[in-house]
Amino acid sequence: MGTFPLRRGFSLVRRLLLEAPLPHAPLTAMRLTQKITLSITGAIVLLMAAHAWLRIEREASLFERDIRHDTRILAASVARVAAKTWRVDGEAEAVQLVQDANEREAHVGVRWVWLDTPAVSRDQAALGRDEQAALDAGHTVTIRGRPLGHAVDAIYSYARIPGPRRAAVEVRESLDEEVAYVRHTAWRASIEAASLVLLCGALVLGFGAVFVGRPAQKLAAQARRIADGELSARSELEQRDEMGELGRELDRMAERLAAARDFADEQVRARIAAVEQLQHAERLTTVGKLAAGVAHEIGTPLNVITGHAQLITGDFPPESAAHKSAGIIAAQAQRVAAIVRQLLDFARRRAPSRAQHDLVALVRQTAGVLTALAKKQSVEIELALPDTLPAQVDAVQIQQVLTNLAVNAIHAMPNGGKLTIGAERCEAEPPPGQDGARGELARISVRDQGTGIPPEALEHIFEPFFTTKDIGAGTGLGLSVAHGIVKEHQGWITVDTRAGEGSCFQVYLPLEAA
Ligand code: ADP
Repeated sequence: MGTFPLRRGFSLVRRLLLEAPLPHAPLTAMRLTQKITLSITGAIVLLMAAHAWLRIEREASLFERDIRHDTRILAASVARVAAKTWRVDGEAEAVQLVQDANEREAHVGVRWVWLDTPAVSRDQAALGRDEQAALDAGHTVTIRGRPLGHAVDAIYSYARIPGPRRAAVEVRESLDEEVAYVRHTAWRASIEAASLVLLCGALVLGFGAVFVGRPAQKLAAQARRIADGELSARSELEQRDEMGELGRELDRMAERLAAARDFADEQVRARIAAVEQLQHAERLTTVGKLAAGVAHEIGTPLNVITGHAQLITGDFPPESAAHKSAGIIAAQAQRVAAIVRQLLDFARRRAPSRAQHDLVALVRQTAGVLTALAKKQSVEIELALPDTLPAQVDAVQIQQVLTNLAVNAIHAMPNGGKLTIGAERCEAEPPPGQDGARGELARISVRDQGTGIPPEALEHIFEPFFTTKDIGAGTGLGLSVAHGIVKEHQGWITVDTRAGEGSCFQVYLPLEAA
């Protein structure tokens, strides 16, 4: 009856500890918790077993000592009374007295024992020579023995009955109660141990899952995410113990890895960009050489054409057809010569030879040159200039820049409009990703009310040979040359444009050569 609930209790503990990991907790995460739980409950079981054993030992020996004491006193008392009866009333009365005493005592057996005859029944404890001598000397003797047919020991006490023959009183008390008491105590200790194990096991399992199992699971998940390259993953452990510390270290490691990866990515991107730039520059150099070669070859025949066209115009009257045709030939040849010049500008770009010039004067000169072209397209030129703006520049090159920008602006207004050229001092620094001087600079702005530049064209306008103009109308070199010249002056160009509203090109130039 007693073992059934105990077995159920054990199986419950077993299930809790070994077979039932917490939901979603992988076995690996639970192993540590299980180990801790098993060690703690094991230690508790050992401690409680040792404690129960010591308690049982102590109480059993106290129990036996009490029985020895009681039986000894009873044997001595009965022996005294029996001796008196033997002396006064004879042997039969004395034996009867002992039998009466036996019947009165329910828990103990009291018997008359002859010491001068061998033991008649095996129930009678065999007294050794020393014990008999002690009896004869008037002492009571107590021994422990197993009565015949019993499963449990008993305590025997003997006291000598002085008389005509050697006789003694035997008092026997079984240790049945002691055994029952030991069993009961052992059973209670087991129940206590099982309850404590269950309680502690459940607590350790619960706390272990909260403080070890789940954090370990989170850390493992984070480590897996880091291994998969997901470096933004964070452990999200709030606790301030070793697990939390581990989580924070893992977070820091992920941050450092992410920074290292970003740095490596940036390096790779920079290298790819550098290689692309190099390839682009090489292509441009080749194109430049080709253009220079072609321009050189075209130059001489072009001069011959122009010379002969001028000869023809001189030989024929102005209203003649030959004169007009020769005039057209000369104009077209000049146009080709202008393109060739642009090609040569692009191909043989030279370092600027900088000297102190007034930018305001350069702007005015350029505007003057372009007045005829502007008028032809109904474009009004407006100048917004200070009195003077001195800067160390290559005057010819800066005029070329201004011309290219202004011609583009005029071309962008086929139906007329206003071209505004301004100049001023300003504090500026190069836009991100561009080199250039910073601090006080000169800013020249060329603003038109033209078509504007669509976004898909905007990113290419400074590339050589990029043009949206008709064949023959544009070479795609104007902005490329302007950009190159301004860059050589440690300056830069910015563009602000709106479709249908116009564009504004701003040229930033340092006031002094570096
Ligand atoms: P080109 O004038 O020979 O085409 P550029 O290098 O000077 O070569 O200009 C490149 C392109 O930039 C032009 O074809 C045009 O599409 C665009 N562009 C330049 N300036 C302007 C402007 N002010 N308004 C609109 N588009 C412009």
